[in-house]
Amino acid sequence: MIYYAEDRTHCGNHGSCDILVPHPDSTMHELPITQNILQIALQYGTQSQASRITDLYLVIGQLSSVIDESIQFYWPIISKDTLAENATLHFKRIPARLECTQCGTVYGLDDGQLTTCPECDSSQVKIIAGKDFQLESIAIEQADPPPSEKS
Ligand SMILES: [Zn+2]
Repeated sequence: MIYYAEDRTHCGNHGSCDILVPHPDSTMHELPITQNILQIALQYGTQSQASRITDLYLVIGQLSSVIDESIQFYWPIISKDTLAENATLHFKRIPARLECTQCGTVYGLDDGQLTTCPECDSSQVKIIAGKDFQLESIAIEQADPPPSEKS
């Protein structure tokens, strides 16, 4: 299941619930994000004297606007002729957690749709997890013994 931020940018209840809705300005574009991932991976690979970067593990929050298919699309293009060429991208989705600012209830989203508080029906809720996109770890191949940890 892929979540598209565009599907959620209008909730029909702006004002009181805009806290729920990803702000249009925060919509990220996958190409610079993918370039950023590559830069981090290459920096790590160089530092670790990697002969090749084999895998990248990426975490995408359920409410992140990042579309993994787009990253997958850009990846082979921008990683070509680098240490990370042909590296496999692994995407892990983490569920969103919302906290009601009125009654403090913390709840998740079953189907990815933003909902009001299940306890008090307030729309004054904040996203406390599942909004971010990050590079979790990188796997490399190297001639020398591997470093104590990879991340
Ligand atoms: Zn509540």
